[in-house]
Amino acid sequence: MNRRKFLFHTSIVGAGLLGTGKAAPDLLGAGCVTASDSNLTLEEKPVAFSVPPLAYPFDALEPHIDAKTMEIHHDKHHGAYVTNLNKALDGQSALQAKSIDDLLKGLDSIPENIRTAVRNNGGGHWNHTLFWTLMKKGGGGEPKGDLAAAINSAFGSFAGFQEKFTAAGLGRFGSGWAWLILKDGKLSIDSTPNQDTPYLLGGNAKAVLGLDVWEHAYYLKYQNLRGDYIRAWWNVVNWDRAAELFAAAKK
Ligand code: MN
Repeated sequence: MNRRKFLFHTSIVGAGLLGTGKAAPDLLGAGCVTASDSNLTLEEKPVAFSVPPLAYPFDALEPHIDAKTMEIHHDKHHGAYVTNLNKALDGQSALQAKSIDDLLKGLDSIPENIRTAVRNNGGGHWNHTLFWTLMKKGGGGEPKGDLAAAINSAFGSFAGFQEKFTAAGLGRFGSGWAWLILKDGKLSIDSTPNQDTPYLLGGNAKAVLGLDVWEHAYYLKYQNLRGDYIRAWWNVVNWDRAAELFAAAKK
């Protein structure tokens, strides 16, 4: 099917959905990958998406990330993404039954009138769910094992990696994320705007490490000083979790 036919086909599917209010599971499912090959799987069959609880108290990352920021960030910001994602999917039972990964990998098959809402709020849900697990009390230091070797090989040294990752976070204009990803089988550093996920970076990119550089992630403690926030954040990185993601991404 050429691109023009594909676009036409997509618009017909979209129009049909809007017209009848019924989902067409076979068509919507086409082209989507299964949850089993994802590196982040949330609910299997969610009635509604929900914010997963933090695995640590709000003050666990003090003094690097303050408790008030964690509370507002998790409960209010992540909460709002989930509320708005559920609102966008209201009445769309076939879409509600999908995993968050499948929704975000198959954005092209989501009806146009809710596609941006799913991209932004679904992306916010996915990004933050991952982000909470990439930090822990007493984190920081350096990665070990395969991930350390791969970082040294790709960036020359851990310090070289930190410098490039920090630059990606500082260089992201406005709001977004810095990422260490496995893409086309290689470790690389990239960033996304807004709440775009690594799924939008192409090359079957899979997240190994991600950093939220929205002002809401640091403004209470660091005000406009994003660089100070990033410097402090290295002290709470959960490298065990990054190593798990790296191992899963290589499979
Ligand atoms: Mn955030």
